[in-house]
Amino acid sequence: MASAQKRPKRDENETIDGYIHMISPVKTSKNKNIKYFNAVMQEKLKFTDVVCFKPDLHCNFQDLEKKKSPVSLKNIQRVPSNRTSADFDIRVGFASELSTPVRALDFDFQPPPTLQTTTIKDIEQNLNAFQKATIAIKVIDIGPTESRTTRSGQVMDCKHIIVADSTSSISCCLWEAHFDSIKLAQSYKITNVAVRNFDNIKTLTTCPDTAFEATNDIGPIVESEKKPISVEKIIRIKSAACTAANKCSVCSKDVGNFNSELDTIKCQSCNMRQRTLDITKQYKCEVVAQVDNNNTKLIIPDLVLRGRPDLVLDPNQLETQLLNSVSLTVKLNIGCTHVLDITHIQN
Ligand SMILES: [Zn+2]
Repeated sequence: MASAQKRPKRDENETIDGYIHMISPVKTSKNKNIKYFNAVMQEKLKFTDVVCFKPDLHCNFQDLEKKKSPVSLKNIQRVPSNRTSADFDIRVGFASELSTPVRALDFDFQPPPTLQTTTIKDIEQNLNAFQKATIAIKVIDIGPTESRTTRSGQVMDCKHIIVADSTSSISCCLWEAHFDSIKLAQSYKITNVAVRNFDNIKTLTTCPDTAFEATNDIGPIVESEKKPISVEKIIRIKSAACTAANKCSVCSKDVGNFNSELDTIKCQSCNMRQRTLDITKQYKCEVVAQVDNNNTKLIIPDLVLRGRPDLVLDPNQLETQLLNSVSLTVKLNIGCTHVLDITHIQN
């Protein structure tokens, strides 16, 4: 049914009236060098994503948004949405025309939903992964600081917090740039927080453009529904890739292989000479594991691997050992791919 609905309605060149919002800069498509920009159209009953392939309309659009003026778009097409499977986007092509509506609109200019406050229940039920939201919440729990190693080898700290409103509570991954933005039991308006979906559980994560504004107490919240930050799962490893890096004692980056008979070496990343004795091995294991009934990519960090004396700290042997085990009982943060602890190994 979904596939039938997704077919673009090419013959139906419609006219739509409404207001224009959130106009992006003009972009150039990578493969075909086509210029376009995105916007959001406020129709009578909904907000619809717009992709406009007439870059010369960019200034007009911006002007109309600033003046909150009604617009009429002629000869547009509805094409399957890039973001939600059930929706259609508005495509403004070369045949489309921008004008003023013939009649006055019977609805007013309103900010689109991403700028409006959403409830946590609404996020859990209606928002998709990577969509952004604005919420009015109270911080009800702050977890410990955890380190994450990004693909580029950069170490970043994060904390898992629980936020609640009158409808529900949700876990939110707070990156270190935002540590000082929040206090326990304080209410905030948070804009541009992104939705994640892991194992069918919705969580939130802060992004570089997430903003926190302390507010008056939001009133009663769903405290009874205070959810655990971490869960224990029995997982079966389906594939594993282990690596061992020689960690610089200054910048934590991999210094590569070196002659251990030398007393000192220079790190190519931070340029600091240091004793080879101070360089530590850092192990990391990426696995694809069966969690409940889904295959999920998980990362087992160095600290967790070292916490298990029964694991062999050698990349090849560790991969084999993990694959030979029947199952692992691991602790995971809800919505996170980093293993916090291995509490049991079934051999
Ligand atoms: Zn270094």
